[in-house]
Amino acid sequence: MTGYVFPPAPPPFLPVAGRREVFPVRRIFCVGQNYALHAAEMGAKAGTAEGSPVFFMKPADSLAHDGDIIPYPPQTASLHHEVELVAALGMGGADIPEQSAMEHVFGYTVGLDLTRRDLQKLAKDGGKPWDLAKGFDHATPCGLLIPAGASQTPPQGAIQLSVNGDIRQDGQLADMIWPLPRLIAILSRFITLQPGDILMTGTPAGVGALESGDKVDAHIDGIGDLSVTIR
Ligand code: MN
Repeated sequence: MTGYVFPPAPPPFLPVAGRREVFPVRRIFCVGQNYALHAAEMGAKAGTAEGSPVFFMKPADSLAHDGDIIPYPPQTASLHHEVELVAALGMGGADIPEQSAMEHVFGYTVGLDLTRRDLQKLAKDGGKPWDLAKGFDHATPCGLLIPAGASQTPPQGAIQLSVNGDIRQDGQLADMIWPLPRLIAILSRFITLQPGDILMTGTPAGVGALESGDKVDAHIDGIGDLSVTIR
């Protein structure tokens, strides 16, 4: 090989608190229905910690950043917000034991798993893939990445989202059905995780539709805030 036929795109990234260097994002893995009350509002029976969650992916180049203006996406009339704790992996691996899974985490941020809910429902009802319901331009706004440092404990506390100042989602990270170390362990049985992979850990109850002009503010205790505007 002597080069590329055109210059490769630089990797999508997350800014890192206290660092000039950014975190290069490789892949975005997501988990569905990790909070029982959200499973219920989706009309589903909540899974159990002993079972396996549903994983899916969003394209890495769907990342957007704090302060961005997010264009209301085409091909939907039901753009939904989902606030999620995002874990960024600094170390990869396969068959990672749950007991040591936290050693693979570089840091955390607040993310939004923006969703074309109408397309997702059509896909579910038709037994078809979700990809375009979850993967589109600017579909994954994420905030400042907070390094975990020596901490081996996942963040605890509230996870919240408000639209134009009204609280829509107000959950507790402790209510995850599959806690972060278990998610990493299970996912790593299916795929070899790599440094740069990020994992969106699911959304609490209260998902709902966004309209053009809405200001969305997301917050996770101890991690920080993320604000975007839909237009
Ligand atoms: Mn989600």
